[in-house]
Amino acid sequence: MQYKTDVAIIGAGPVGLFAIFQAGMLKINCHVIDTLPEIGGQCIALYPEKPIYDIPAYPSILAKTLVEKLAEQAAPFKPQYHLGQQVTELITNKDGSFVIITSKNNEIHAKAVIIAAGCGAFGPNRPPLTGIEEFENKSVFYSVKDPEKFRGKNIVIAGGGDSAVDWALILAGIASKVTVVHRRKKFRCAPDNSDKLHNLAQEGKVNLEIPYQLHQVRGNKGNLQKIEVIDFENNIKTLDADILLPFFGLSMDLGPILNWELVLDKKHINIDPATSQTNIPGVYAIGDIATYPGKLKLILTGFSEAAMACHSIHSIVYPDQVLHFQYSTAKGVS
Ligand SMILES: Cc1cc2nc3c(=O)[nH]c(=O)nc-3n(C[C@H](O)[C@H](O)[C@H](O)COP(=O)(O)OP(=O)(O)OC[C@H]3O[C@@H](n4cnc5c(N)ncnc54)[C@H](O)[C@@H]3O)c2cc1C
Repeated sequence: MQYKTDVAIIGAGPVGLFAIFQAGMLKINCHVIDTLPEIGGQCIALYPEKPIYDIPAYPSILAKTLVEKLAEQAAPFKPQYHLGQQVTELITNKDGSFVIITSKNNEIHAKAVIIAAGCGAFGPNRPPLTGIEEFENKSVFYSVKDPEKFRGKNIVIAGGGDSAVDWALILAGIASKVTVVHRRKKFRCAPDNSDKLHNLAQEGKVNLEIPYQLHQVRGNKGNLQKIEVIDFENNIKTLDADILLPFFGLSMDLGPILNWELVLDKKHINIDPATSQTNIPGVYAIGDIATYPGKLKLILTGFSEAAMACHSIHSIVYPDQVLHFQYSTAKGVS
């Protein structure tokens, strides 16, 4: 199918969603493409049930609620979403406009492009365990969408970072047993949470297997039964387990974006922070994928970059109009 729009936004994470609103306020319409089957980016794919504490005016908001609110804020501008498909090609026309091709062979013709692709098509780092694929999405999960699903289960969490420790703290009150396997004695998480974890371990509410790492998974037809863990002296311990949650971070795969002749810095796209424009005129990058000196990888920084990009794009969409800056309170949401 062919589509025509003012702006094509690659990525429906929180920052891409806010860009729809910013564009809409300037009467710029958008099509939004995402590889994932639902909107929300990392917030939905990785931590929907976690509270975020640094969104202005929300002392605490669940990641999934933030996404719902962003979608609601964007809705009046009728964005067209193309989900479950990756943008594979970005073609620059002679007149400076663009064609975007997706993995489902959709062609989106746009006057400008905003890349809000986070860390690219992202995926979890999988532990190198033989046969783990058989258990994935049945009893091995790389993210937790609904903690209630694990009520009463015997859970092994592997990893020593924020996600591993946060989920151990949350699931300790839900699961029948929680064991944390980490290859170092020290956890790489917020010191407060590390203290909380050790306190729970002392109270017998969490079982710590440190320093150990995953060695083997065993079970039947995708249902996990045993997990072997191994220490540095090759001592092996066998743990009973219904569920394994490995939290070894994300792998970033910029994929096709690497071939678009953008100036990159360590897998991030260099932008001019005054406009969010990349080295290709008309192509903008915002959110986690964008970089410049002093960049803070926070959702709120991405929101600001979205506003800068849309104000800059106004002159591309409406070359004959001068943009008079207005507050939303003055013009309302049309
Ligand atoms: C556990 C955890 C806790 C966090 N807590 C906080 C916090 O408290 N506060 C905070 O500010 N930040 C937090 N973050 C970081 C925050 O989630 C990111 O900064 C934010 O998600 C970045 O938003 P984004 O829209 O730029 O990218 P993303 O959320 O990564 O979304 C990018 C989207 O682009 C899509 N995409 C990529 N490439 C393509 C392509 N070629 N074609 C189509 N689609 C593509 C991806 O599928 C993805 O959906 C946390 C992150 C994690 C993992």
